[in-house]
Amino acid sequence: MTGRDCDIAIIGGGLSGGLIALALARLRPETSFRLIEAGPRLGGNHRWSWFASDLSPAGTDLMAGFLKAEWDHGYHVRFPDYRRHLHTPYRSLASSDFAARLERDLPEGSILTNREVAALDAGGADLADGTRITARTVIDCRGFAPSPALQGGWQVFMGRHLKTPEPHGVARPIIMDAKVDQLAPHGNGGAYRFVYVLPLGSHELFIEDTYYADNPQLDRSALSARIDRYQQQMGWTGEPVGFETGVLPVITGGNFRAYQQGQRVEGVALAGARGGFAHPLTSYTLPIAVQVALSVAENADLPGEQMAAKLEAAARRHWAAMGYYRFLGSMLFGAAKPEERYRVFQRFYRLPARLIERFYAGRSSLFEKARVLIGKPPVPVTRAVGALLSSSPLITDPSRKAPHEHS
Ligand SMILES: Cc1cc2nc3c(=O)[nH]c(=O)nc-3n(C[C@H](O)[C@H](O)[C@H](O)COP(=O)(O)OP(=O)(O)OC[C@H]3O[C@@H](n4cnc5c(N)ncnc54)[C@H](O)[C@@H]3O)c2cc1C
Repeated sequence: MTGRDCDIAIIGGGLSGGLIALALARLRPETSFRLIEAGPRLGGNHRWSWFASDLSPAGTDLMAGFLKAEWDHGYHVRFPDYRRHLHTPYRSLASSDFAARLERDLPEGSILTNREVAALDAGGADLADGTRITARTVIDCRGFAPSPALQGGWQVFMGRHLKTPEPHGVARPIIMDAKVDQLAPHGNGGAYRFVYVLPLGSHELFIEDTYYADNPQLDRSALSARIDRYQQQMGWTGEPVGFETGVLPVITGGNFRAYQQGQRVEGVALAGARGGFAHPLTSYTLPIAVQVALSVAENADLPGEQMAAKLEAAARRHWAAMGYYRFLGSMLFGAAKPEERYRVFQRFYRLPARLIERFYAGRSSLFEKARVLIGKPPVPVTRAVGALLSSSPLITDPSRKAPHEHS
């Protein structure tokens, strides 16, 4: 008897917390845990996508049991100058299917939903209802925390799930359709805009309007009207059956140690977007959340202090490894005029498919990094130098930020 409620308390039942719980249940069934989520269901209202090439074999295995959309024949991109079919398989998981599997596969009593954590420490979590859950190791997975220690821009989007009365005829995802008006909705400055389309079934589409914007304003009605217009252009009619919105940071710089210091609760491990485990340019976290989940399972016996130190060190290594992608992000936001940002991607997508795969997986080789940068630059050199010398806006809480307020 340890006198504790469980070995590991996972705070936040979103993507990273859910995957850690799943990895523990599968790989370390002797470890007891609680997955504590404030919302009514695990995973919230999201759709998470990734390239099959983003995951290791062990990661692919962890994700295998989820009911998800799979496109084994790759995807398309479209730009004003060309379109291309890339053959890398693509995957997408709805949070409802994420929650359904966890509810099925996690041990009885390990999931606590509608339970907000009011405070946490190295020995456990205090819930808002007054209950305390004690644990040997506490892992904080409460999602991204904006911080003035980080700089960058924003990826702002709205996705619509549409049921069409007739087969829509789209066979593969369109990851980027940048043949659309590049101006951001009224009041949101300039942006790189593209539409993202997933054919989820013969009569089902997911259509997302996305901006790489200078400020985090999400204008729901403008984005919805733009999806209407895109549907019209493509000749798709039907009933919207769901939607999601997102405002994700695109981190281009900052002081990561100061960020970690700001989030740290002594002896508590940090994972997920809050821990800094994201691709800075795409804001995607799924591939790295899978790796972190596997690593937590492998080290499930570690006391809280040691788990915290291990994940903190892993996050710092990740930050160092992502330097190149932050640099590209600052070029995108600082060097390219908003309406010209699409050129950066248009040029990038002409590169070899393997290079593109490794770029998204955050594993570009030195040669590949150089290859992205050499040749005729898509932005003027003087602006590029200016972008690197100037500092980017801070990543503070989007809900508190006024339009056009950059720092
Ligand atoms: C709409 C949307 C779409 C995205 N699409 C992709 C994608 O396609 N691919 C990809 O890789 N990434 C995507 N991302 C980015 C990123 O992967 C997700 O944000 C991901 O969910 C981050 O995982 P996380 O576990 O860190 O945080 P979250 O998944 O946000 O989970 C945090 C959880 O903690 C809970 N919580 C917070 N505070 C408390 C508390 N006090 N007590 C208890 N629970 C609490 C929240 O309710 C939430 O469920 C997307 C993000 C959004 C918003």
